[in-house]
Amino acid sequence: MTASGSDPRSSAGAGERRRAGGVCVEHAIEVLRPPPGLAHLRHDRAGELVLDPTPLTLDGDRIASFEADSGAAVRIDAAGCALLPGLVDCHTHLPFAGWRAEEYEQKVTGVPYEQIARGGGGIASSARALAQATDAQVLDQARALVAEMLAGGTTAYESKTGYGLSVPGEERAVRLGRELGADRVTGLFAHAVPQGYDADGWMDQVDALAASCDVDALDIYVESVAFTNEHLTRLGAIAARERVPLRAHVEQFNANRSVPVALAAGARSVDHLACLHPDDVAPLAAAQCAAVLLPGAEFLGAERVAPARDLADAGAICVLATDLNPGTSPVSSLPAIIGLAVRRYGWSVREALLACTLNAAWVLGLSGELGSLEVGKRADVVLLDTPVAHLPYRFGRNPVCLVIRAGEVAWVRPDAAWRIAA
Ligand SMILES: [Zn+2]
Repeated sequence: MTASGSDPRSSAGAGERRRAGGVCVEHAIEVLRPPPGLAHLRHDRAGELVLDPTPLTLDGDRIASFEADSGAAVRIDAAGCALLPGLVDCHTHLPFAGWRAEEYEQKVTGVPYEQIARGGGGIASSARALAQATDAQVLDQARALVAEMLAGGTTAYESKTGYGLSVPGEERAVRLGRELGADRVTGLFAHAVPQGYDADGWMDQVDALAASCDVDALDIYVESVAFTNEHLTRLGAIAARERVPLRAHVEQFNANRSVPVALAAGARSVDHLACLHPDDVAPLAAAQCAAVLLPGAEFLGAERVAPARDLADAGAICVLATDLNPGTSPVSSLPAIIGLAVRRYGWSVREALLACTLNAAWVLGLSGELGSLEVGKRADVVLLDTPVAHLPYRFGRNPVCLVIRAGEVAWVRPDAAWRIAA
């Protein structure tokens, strides 16, 4: 975890900052907890998450106990609230520059993608915007989005490269992800084939970037317009050599049968899966590989709906994320993603919450530290001003009223300020 003074999550506004050193959260009506000591929990066991109320005491940046501490320096009244661990967004494309709102209107009114791309849209447009923006402009936009995510309960997130589309551009994207303070920086060097290269030639550059850049994982976009299953196998070998996890964007628009290839390459996660082949559900569900589902991209792109009910029933390690990016999913809110997942996947609230807490932390290799309310883990706690059932049900409303990150009140909604007593 990078501790950065410029991290927008590291401090609250004036007058709202609260040091830990004994924080007691009391009177919650629900407290979400998995069975203790698990690195992840397969989705056929999501019903084992309990919501029994209990007080919670934090000591410094750690969860200290599930007992009330009468001597705590800070007391937080969670009357009527549900307590969750900080949400983990394990698939975002932060940092990026600008937006593509005009493209969205073209898309929904029926302009074909080829025409949008010929007009300079798509990934190339975001690559141009990134190249033209200064570091400060890129980081300012990304920090504003991280603050938005925090207000939706997200206390840890991943960043990806991929809009650099050149060797120096991708090196810069890695550096900006670090400067942003992302909990994990993934090298999505194989995102699109840059001008002047064919896919094989660019993979040689990807190999060199993987060797020279400080990244926590490698990722690839496998699709007819980007890279193939053979490139996925090659990236798997590169990831093994570099001893970092392999992740892969697969089966978004077409069934390319990339999942067996990713599993053979030892992938930590396969992401998207809207077009997952039915025969690949059982092998994926049996593997030590997460199914990262992105219902924001599915919804806004009018994509197919991933077979998430089948994956959960089969016992996959299911995960939800925003896929926050300026093209296919300009969505920063995990509460919105949870609402989409519950309705469109036929998931219970527990299934949706498991998917953006413990299992999402596992994808990032952080589940020993984050992703559940357990003694010794980092004190990342989210207060909802409703029971958890309201989260998907009152779709579009953000019920997050207070967020503690590493033992500090990092965000509080003005109408919830009364809950804090020091
Ligand atoms: Zn993505």
